Amino acid sequence: MKNFLRFNNNKLDIVISTKENGNMLYQMGGKEVYENYQRLSQSTGIDLNKVVRVILKNSSEFIEVDRAKGGDGVLPDKQNLIGYDGIITRDKNLYIAITTADCFPVIIHDPVNDILGLAHCGWRGIVEQLEVKIMNKMIEMGSKIDDLEITYGPGICRDCYVQHNEYLRDVFIQQYCYPLDIIEEVDGHYAVDIKLASQYNLREAGYTGDFKELNLCNYCDDRLFSVRRDGKETGRIVNLVAML
Ligand SMILES: [Zn+2]
Repeated sequence: MKNFLRFNNNKLDIVISTKENGNMLYQMGGKEVYENYQRLSQSTGIDLNKVVRVILKNSSEFIEVDRAKGGDGVLPDKQNLIGYDGIITRDKNLYIAITTADCFPVIIHDPVNDILGLAHCGWRGIVEQLEVKIMNKMIEMGSKIDDLEITYGPGICRDCYVQHNEYLRDVFIQQYCYPLDIIEEVDGHYAVDIKLASQYNLREAGYTGDFKELNLCNYCDDRLFSVRRDGKETGRIVNLVAML
């Protein structure tokens, strides 16, 4: 039985692990993490030597990789790409990957020039405009903004991201001047729509295309790990994407 999620449109292959695949973050686990990756590789047919995963830091740093970096972040003795929250590649059939448990993987694809970007967008990455920085880097590399196709992977929805204090409301509205519609006040609490905030970033930066969405919320969907629901010691899913 299939225990991972796969979205394949002949241009991109997006694979998302589930709880059934186990924790996919080496930095939080033991030797079972490699076994989890090996089993995911067997069931998806994805060669781990064609995967590159970065080790996140909630920063706006990103890195361009090619197939020479294959295996990094997924093989236990290759954990080298530390402190990057985004990845760009020009190589087809190379899976770029991040682990998450509520933050959004934002996939930016230029199918004309074959350039692929992936951003780890929690609220810190979003206020630091990580997805915009990756999009702008892709434009520097030759992409035209109108050719880009942007997809939001699984991440926490507005209804599940309720804040019991005003900190994030003040960050988004007062400090960074986001439009009021990213915050909804519910019974004296504040629900924050970080996906909408990220999309607002991209609109402000000139992107006018559609936003494709996988419509998966880690908290709503019990198949996925969620820090909000399960606590920060919970496991992480891995989000893998490659150009076909
Ligand atoms: Zn939800």
